[in-house]
Amino acid sequence: MFSDSECQEFAQNSDGFIVRRSLDSFWELGLIFVFCTTIKMEFIHFRGILRPAVSLKNFNVLHDQNAQNCLASCRIESIDKNAAQNLVPNLCVPLNSAFYMPEAINVHPQRYLQHVKIWQKTCQLLVSEAKDLRLHKKSINNLLELAGEYSAVIVCLGSRALFLPELSGKLPLRTCRGVIAHLQLPDDISEDYPDHSPSILSDAWLAIQGPRNLYLGSTWEWNSRNYSPDVPSEEASKALQELLPKASSIYPDIKNWTFTRATAGLRAMPPLTPHGSLPVLGCLDDYVDGNHSCKYWLFGGLGSRGLLYHAWLGKLLALAVLSCNEDLLPSELTSWRNKKAQ
Ligand SMILES: Cc1cc2nc3c(=O)[nH]c(=O)nc-3n(C[C@H](O)[C@H](O)[C@H](O)COP(=O)(O)OP(=O)(O)OC[C@H]3O[C@@H](n4cnc5c(N)ncnc54)[C@H](O)[C@@H]3O)c2cc1C
Repeated sequence: MFSDSECQEFAQNSDGFIVRRSLDSFWELGLIFVFCTTIKMEFIHFRGILRPAVSLKNFNVLHDQNAQNCLASCRIESIDKNAAQNLVPNLCVPLNSAFYMPEAINVHPQRYLQHVKIWQKTCQLLVSEAKDLRLHKKSINNLLELAGEYSAVIVCLGSRALFLPELSGKLPLRTCRGVIAHLQLPDDISEDYPDHSPSILSDAWLAIQGPRNLYLGSTWEWNSRNYSPDVPSEEASKALQELLPKASSIYPDIKNWTFTRATAGLRAMPPLTPHGSLPVLGCLDDYVDGNHSCKYWLFGGLGSRGLLYHAWLGKLLALAVLSCNEDLLPSELTSWRNKKAQ
């Protein structure tokens, strides 16, 4: 489905963490450098990710399919219990085996999005022929609201695309609410999370934000329609009841941390196909105004791996929109239109 060069651009672990392999050019290096220094990289944590094997099946997949076939610039190291506990003290390593991805990064998506405006300014500075880019914040109730104003409309509303009248009941997506808890180490605990220790990925994940701050996620409530980021206390305690035992089974010291707040989001999960669960892209004209002018497009179903896919698929979709040619998209991502919505 994807070309070699595209596949090599990113590598992924199973919960959507992404790793950028290499920089294409010094120009790109310059762009990223300007961007990173401007915003001090506060949305990315470069501490790597550690994944203990928790079952034999899990071990075989990680060892045979991931560690054996990893890209040279995105190493997955197979390590034993001692080495794992050197990285994260007191970590549980039930099968004496863990997988360490030293170059993996954690991205804080909200902060990342807040800096999109700086990206725009940086691009404008660096690309002389760039047109004026403006971000308008406006809530849309239906797609025909945008009918006359734009030559192309890309619907990238996440799970809320399902709530648009034109698309309701027509997209093959299932909603799934997820809660993430923020935990802190109280002042009376002196031993904090070591400075360069990696984040942890298992049945639950711990995204380390600093020596005394972490995010713990996430839950899976299928078919929820609740897209509110707010988490009432009852929902938060239910989420903690689910997440803490999972976290504790690999990182028992989680008992020292205290809950401070929770936040939530609604995933738009794509259907499982023979190629896996892939995002859904393509032209939407049939659903909106019945014309075939390639005006309305969908960029959806990013599921639980949006960070992995967004930039690369955004680039592909932009090319397809500019060329008014859906065939430029991989057929695996557009084939949903031939099937009935679930
Ligand atoms: C708990 C949880 C954990 C996750 N963990 C990971 C992870 O570890 N790695 C990973 O890669 N992905 C993860 N994801 C998935 C990732 O967040 C999504 O794939 C990604 O956010 C989808 O991006 P999107 O742009 O399609 O939709 P969204 O991020 O939902 O963005 C949609 C945007 O459209 C706006 N919008 C919606 N309706 C309207 C309207 N009517 N008018 C105007 N604007 C509107 C919204 O305000 C929002 O800004 C997780 C998701 C959840 C919920």
